[in-house]
Amino acid sequence: MTTLFTEACFEVAGVQSIVDEVCEHLRSHGVVVAGADQHKVLTFDDGRGEIAINADRATMKVEAQTLTGIEIVREELTSQLIEYHPQLADRIIWSGDGCEQRYPAWFCLLTVADTFRVTPHVQRVRFHGSDLGRYSGFADIHMRLMFPRPEDRNPQWPHVKPNGTISYAPRDVLAIREYTYRHVDVAAGTLDIDFVLHEEAGPGSAFAARAKPGDVIGMSGPGGYSAPLDRDWYILAGDETAIPAIAGILETLPAAARGIAFIEVADATEEQSLDTKTGITIRWLHRNGAAPGTTKLLPDAVRAVEFPSDGSSVFAWAGCEFSAFKEIRSYMRKERGLKKGESLIVSYWRRGKSEDEVRGTPDDG
Ligand SMILES: Cc1cc2nc3c(=O)[nH]c(=O)nc-3n(C[C@H](O)[C@H](O)[C@H](O)COP(=O)(O)OP(=O)(O)OC[C@H]3O[C@@H](n4cnc5c(N)ncnc54)[C@H](O)[C@@H]3O)c2cc1C
Repeated sequence: MTTLFTEACFEVAGVQSIVDEVCEHLRSHGVVVAGADQHKVLTFDDGRGEIAINADRATMKVEAQTLTGIEIVREELTSQLIEYHPQLADRIIWSGDGCEQRYPAWFCLLTVADTFRVTPHVQRVRFHGSDLGRYSGFADIHMRLMFPRPEDRNPQWPHVKPNGTISYAPRDVLAIREYTYRHVDVAAGTLDIDFVLHEEAGPGSAFAARAKPGDVIGMSGPGGYSAPLDRDWYILAGDETAIPAIAGILETLPAAARGIAFIEVADATEEQSLDTKTGITIRWLHRNGAAPGTTKLLPDAVRAVEFPSDGSSVFAWAGCEFSAFKEIRSYMRKERGLKKGESLIVSYWRRGKSEDEVRGTPDDG
């Protein structure tokens, strides 16, 4: 495995006490600090750092196995130093691996290649992007998309500053929404995302409705979690927003997996054909005119299912509107007694609140 390196030096009066304070702070946050006063060795989860002091001068070296590791350690060190001595912001300049990168390793620009209408209310957008390999795994299927304002011709994407810290656009400049990838073709450099086109369209839905080749958004990730592959029996539940996740789970689980998947949609025109080699039965639930997020279709369906009583291992997965999420989560935990590792129940959206408003609202479930 290749090891990557980067280094920076700076001069400041009283450098020893600044470095001591930073190391103490990092130690209190789980970083292992060893070595002598004038040569500290710091072990982070993602890499290793060294700080050597000579008179008023400090030399920092960072090594890690990945660019992400380099970035994390570099940023952690610099941001703490700046916290203790703000003037260092302009004095620290890193050189070495990863320093020529304009954008953080976790960030990717996506350019619209094409769009397809999957159902009346689901728009598939095919994007071109580079380095999509990390989006091809099954474990992490979610990403954060960054939508600039439509009139913004020169969006301010997150970028790495010479001192190793990352500059973010103000929150009102880029809207951030979570989505799930539907297909990734690493060789072709394409990634498909299925966007639900909903009423009161926010930045995500509005972008998908008007997307045309050449439009650009930002992406970070991947993250989140899907489902373990080794259970005997699964119960899956979700609305239109969760179809990409449920489709991915159904496509990936082994043939021996059994269970049931409930998918709530507006009506039969919103049903999609989903591939699976498993023995999981798919049941479509129709709102038949009711607004999304107002029915109890998913919690009621989930409650009516008989769980296996033959000692089979189980896993429950749900992604849906907040009210249904709360009910399903409470049912699985309190009434079914599912333990940690036996369920993943997630609120995907909240009726009457944009994602920005949801982030500022406590989960009262
Ligand atoms: C981990 C995760 C993965 C997700 N994956 C996907 C995905 O692959 N595809 C997808 O389409 N969505 C997905 N979602 C849901 C999506 O992030 C939300 O629906 C988000 O609110 C959409 O942003 P927006 O800008 O369109 O609307 P916002 O600005 O967030 O909201 C504007 C208004 O629209 C309402 N609203 C939001 N979503 C819906 C909806 N689905 N139906 C009806 N009204 C709605 C809100 O209540 C609000 O009143 C995912 C969410 C999470 C947490």
